[in-house]
Amino acid sequence: MSETGVSGNAALVRVENLKVWFPIKSGLVLDRHVGDIKAVDDVSLEIERGETLGLVGESGCGKSTIGRAILRLYEPTAGKIVFDGQDISHMSEAQLRPLRRRMQMVFQDPFASLNPRHSVGRIVGEPMRVHGLAGRKQAGKRVRELLEIVGLPVDAASRYPHEFSGGQRQRVGLARSLALNPDFVVCDEPVSALDVSIQAQIVNLLEALQQDFDLTYLFIAHDLAVVRHISDRIAVMYLGKIVEVSPAAELYDNPLHPYTISLLSAVPIPDPQVERERETILLPGDLPSPANPPPACRFHTRCPYVQETRCRQEEPPLRKLADGHWAACHWAEEIKAGKIEPHEVETVFVEPERVPAYEPPPV
Ligand code: SF4
Repeated sequence: MSETGVSGNAALVRVENLKVWFPIKSGLVLDRHVGDIKAVDDVSLEIERGETLGLVGESGCGKSTIGRAILRLYEPTAGKIVFDGQDISHMSEAQLRPLRRRMQMVFQDPFASLNPRHSVGRIVGEPMRVHGLAGRKQAGKRVRELLEIVGLPVDAASRYPHEFSGGQRQRVGLARSLALNPDFVVCDEPVSALDVSIQAQIVNLLEALQQDFDLTYLFIAHDLAVVRHISDRIAVMYLGKIVEVSPAAELYDNPLHPYTISLLSAVPIPDPQVERERETILLPGDLPSPANPPPACRFHTRCPYVQETRCRQEEPPLRKLADGHWAACHWAEEIKAGKIEPHEVETVFVEPERVPAYEPPPV
């Protein structure tokens, strides 16, 4: 068993000690390297075949960077990315080409990711043409099949992205990602830009497609409520590190890291009475800068359970605390046993959406 609870053989994707740092340049011609944005800082995880791993954290915590690095859209600074047994960390673009067909991405903003000047038919069929997989006639037939699979009318092929609603555009994005029969799809906040009523439809569609196409997902979200139903396991990220990994149901029933506990305390509960009575843990301050993360436990500047000893002196390793359940907190057992209570916090909780987004530069 690996660090994150999947047997190595079953893993389709394995990430070992991954670092993705972006250099900060200064000087008139930006020729001085004055530091690094440590967007992903020593992360290991595995995704089993057919599994959905939910990856959750505030904007700027590095979760999208991990997704893009796995697809080799960003160069890893250090560490290893293994896809279906092959180390792809340093493969050239030519070596990656046959694998790119097998790894796809669904983006947050379906409108921005679809070319407004191209018809839906051309958008969905383009990957097949780029990879030389189908002639015009075959591609047209496959496009119509894919549009039907994602629940769009066949005449959608001749229409343009602006003629569709947000949910329909995300269906177009899904059809395009399926065009090459991928094994692995990074879903980067695929429902965040959609109305709540539409979110459930797209999540249900993703689940159905996973069954029909034998897909493995990395499902990125800033909201624990969204990933709950679709994920088999969930990894929680804070400031470039994974702080907790667990089977999904276990994480909601028994969160062990203070950051997960506070995120969960903000997830709405459908029962109004339970919602009124439960306590919400408010996190003080903003997410610190990934260019200058706090020493030792990175969460100590905002942790409601922070202790004088260890938290500010030693970095907590990701430890196994139950079957398949890992957390990076020195005091997880004591917090769970109720021996350490959360401190009073005075400042206002910064909701994930309100944290200024950190957009790393393209590599
Ligand atoms: Fe909080 Fe300390 Fe645990 Fe870090 S190690 S999460 S600061 S209690």
